[in-house]
Amino acid sequence: MTQASFDSAAARAAVLARIAAAARAAGRDPADVALVAVSKQQDWARIAPVAAAGQAIFGENRVQEATERWTGRRDGLELRLIGPLQTNKAREAVGFFDVVETLDREKLAKALADEIQRAGRAPRLYVQVNTGEEPQKAGVAPREADAFIAAAGRVYGLEVEGLMCIPPEAEPAGPHFALLAQIAARNGLSRLSMGMSDDFETAIRFGATSVRLGSAVFGPRARAAGDAAL
Ligand SMILES: *Cc1c(COP(=O)(O)O)cnc(C)c1O
Repeated sequence: MTQASFDSAAARAAVLARIAAAARAAGRDPADVALVAVSKQQDWARIAPVAAAGQAIFGENRVQEATERWTGRRDGLELRLIGPLQTNKAREAVGFFDVVETLDREKLAKALADEIQRAGRAPRLYVQVNTGEEPQKAGVAPREADAFIAAAGRVYGLEVEGLMCIPPEAEPAGPHFALLAQIAARNGLSRLSMGMSDDFETAIRFGATSVRLGSAVFGPRARAAGDAAL
């Protein structure tokens, strides 16, 4: 199957139905779970039908790839950065993204705070928690999350909207989602970005308020480069 022949608009509709069913099964309002369509490494031929069908929130994991893809095409859309952010890209990220989901260290908090001050514009922010404490993965350690969230506000004046996690691939995701929900609750945060194509229904059961779906919406990614950044 070529990239263009995948019916991404139909896939999105199917995914929205599954999100709604999972929310109802958990006794939740389907309107409280947002679909973030992860368009990284996808051809525009697959993205355009999804945008045309009314999808308003898109996720990207690289600043440069995102600006190349979305500049001039983003009217009325919300763009979220869901990949690691280097401090030397903080200016570009603050200028471009509506939401940054990967705040995970003080150096980045400071860089974002400086750029927000400078730009007079602030993306909404999520703190990424490395729930599996995987050395290769970004995110604050669970035991450091409370202090980091507090410091983001107290020291850097950043308002944190919620938490984000990417569970280890080889483990059941449920306990990681539960841990993220627990950390959010004790810090007074109500937004949880968790759940990907393979586990979003579980994430919704544990309280996800947004799910980040790439392949379930757009089909397999065209370019493999960058997957290692996960
Ligand atoms: C790529 C990516 C996703 C989407 O992954 P799928 O398995 O294709 O749904 C979600 N979250 C993050 C952080 C990603 O990098």
